Amino acid sequence: MEKKLGFGCMRLPLLNKEDQTSFDTDTLNKLVDTFLERGFTYFDTAYTYHGYHAEEAMRKALVERHPRASFQLATKLPLRDFKDSADMERIFNEQRTNCGVDFFDYYLLHNMGSNVYEKCRKYGAFDFVAKKKAAGKIKVVGMSFHDMPELLDEILSKYGDGLDFVQLQINYIDWEQPNVQSRRCLEIANKYNKPVIVMEPCKGGTLVNVPQEAEKLMKAYNPAASTASWALRFAASQQGVFRVLSGMNSMEQVEDNTSFMANFLPLNEEENAIIEKVTKIINEKTAVQCTACEYCTHGCPKNIPIPKYFALYNSIMRTTGSFSSQMVYYNNIAINHGKASECIGCKQCERACPQHLPITKYLNDVVEKFEKNSMIPIRK
Ligand code: SF4
Ligand code: SF4
Repeated sequence: MEKKLGFGCMRLPLLNKEDQTSFDTDTLNKLVDTFLERGFTYFDTAYTYHGYHAEEAMRKALVERHPRASFQLATKLPLRDFKDSADMERIFNEQRTNCGVDFFDYYLLHNMGSNVYEKCRKYGAFDFVAKKKAAGKIKVVGMSFHDMPELLDEILSKYGDGLDFVQLQINYIDWEQPNVQSRRCLEIANKYNKPVIVMEPCKGGTLVNVPQEAEKLMKAYNPAASTASWALRFAASQQGVFRVLSGMNSMEQVEDNTSFMANFLPLNEEENAIIEKVTKIINEKTAVQCTACEYCTHGCPKNIPIPKYFALYNSIMRTTGSFSSQMVYYNNIAINHGKASECIGCKQCERACPQHLPITKYLNDVVEKFEKNSMIPIRK
């Protein structure tokens, strides 16, 4: 049976953390070899990862060192980067060279959202991947998605026939978060019978380094299980999920992940109850105690989606690693709404807020995090 764990290549081992291209080749080779030796075969990279050099690193560590039939390689069309139809072709060919392969086992439209959807329609991105599949250059076509369930529904209703699967951000903290809505996105994928690959099951490391109180609950139930194992097993237990990606950059992580995912067991009722408690504890440690009631947004003259921005802010304040997907969500939401910096300080929202939150002050914090210190990589 195919294993449910995939090797995520967004955070490969580095010699110098400040230099995203300083790959620790020896360690990477060992991680890849061990992963394969243990019966796991799926690797997920992308054109843009590691300053546009991850595909090349995976060619050297994986493609040039192992038989082509012994692994499955996934990469992605960078929807933010391509300029027109000809550019998609150029990038695709470049990716085949970068990866050293004639075809991709899996190929995804990368980071679909409201900021790129119209561009994809205009330049025929959905047709592009369909033609590559028909020509045998892609075996399985998918889409990674970072936006709201309504948009996912629209895309799957219009273009679902050409998509074999979707890749979603699913983890127990984002399950009900208004800014991500893991559960609802998964329900939409299930509605269209699209198998799901999970990205960010540990939310960029946040669910590895949980508050002590939460870790105690997990250890009391199973002293041997790591916090990461709870997060990965939560994601892998959901209906329709056939694979969960984990970014592994140490042997300890590969050994731990492959141990409990070798013969994967879904979470039982008792474990699910513990996850609920852990979620509650983590949420209690949130920076802004917004309940997402939306009372504040109705009269906002600038159409600022206040609770969505606060949810993103809470996520990023809990994040321990260099995690940038909240930035992506922020940019996507801001396409059709007011940005936090557009607040005019009328305080209508504060008068409406049942939690009496100093909303305008928090919006300034949002500006600092999401508009002044954007971590989204820019092509050099
Ligand atoms: S103070 Fe800002 S966020 Fe609040 S209602 Fe006015 S414009 Fe909207
Ligand atoms: S009214 Fe207050 S609690 Fe409700 S969504 Fe707005 S900020 Fe959050």
